Amino acid sequence: MVQRLQQEGLSDERVLQALITVPRHEFVDSALAIQAYEDTSLPIGHGQTISKPSVVGRMIAMLFGGATARQQGRLGRVLEIGTGCGYQAAVLAELSRQVVSIERLRPLHDKARLNLAKMRSPSQIRLIYGDGRLGHSQAAPFDSIIAAAGGEDLPPAWLAQLAPGGRLIAPMVSPGGRGQILVVIDHLVESGVSRFVRTEHEAVLFVPLKSGVM
Ligand code: SAH
Repeated sequence: MVQRLQQEGLSDERVLQALITVPRHEFVDSALAIQAYEDTSLPIGHGQTISKPSVVGRMIAMLFGGATARQQGRLGRVLEIGTGCGYQAAVLAELSRQVVSIERLRPLHDKARLNLAKMRSPSQIRLIYGDGRLGHSQAAPFDSIIAAAGGEDLPPAWLAQLAPGGRLIAPMVSPGGRGQILVVIDHLVESGVSRFVRTEHEAVLFVPLKSGVM
């Protein structure tokens, strides 16, 4: 799978290595395990999906373009919104100091806990049951923020919890209202003044970002 992603243009060695390290089949039902190394999203129950590996790889590679990550060669303190089955959290843990990952569906939050307990470095990952639109102010600020569900607006808490030099990446309903695109926000500081710079990227397809918990 990783070789194919590389041939298709994913070139960041650190990300490729992390994708090699994390066994994706451990995060899906055993009936789907034979499809775990295809570049496709798969159902994980409760109407949700495990993200497509090429998109996980692409988004994490883009996080490395943030000022702090570029400087340190690591993603630092990471906030993930939408834990799902925990796969991306495990990949992020290979590349960062700490991962805080939030899920709004209790059964998936519990499932991720079980899945991640089998991994090598579960201690670096903090799973939170809650509404990810609020972020997790207790552990803020974050050097990297990554959303795995697409909303119509950017929750203000995410910008408030993004450290200077940090980068956020999220799927968002495109301004025309048709489909989703990836949006990157960089928190830059020049002469002591903060500003947020937004760039828009390719079309993507993620489950919707919802409010509240269930
Ligand atoms: N990161 C996962 C992808 C899971 S799909 C992976 O590794 O493949 C996205 C998840 O986002 C779903 O489980 C969904 O329940 C969750 N989600 C949607 N809105 C949310 C919110 N406001 N807060 C937290 N999680 C949310």
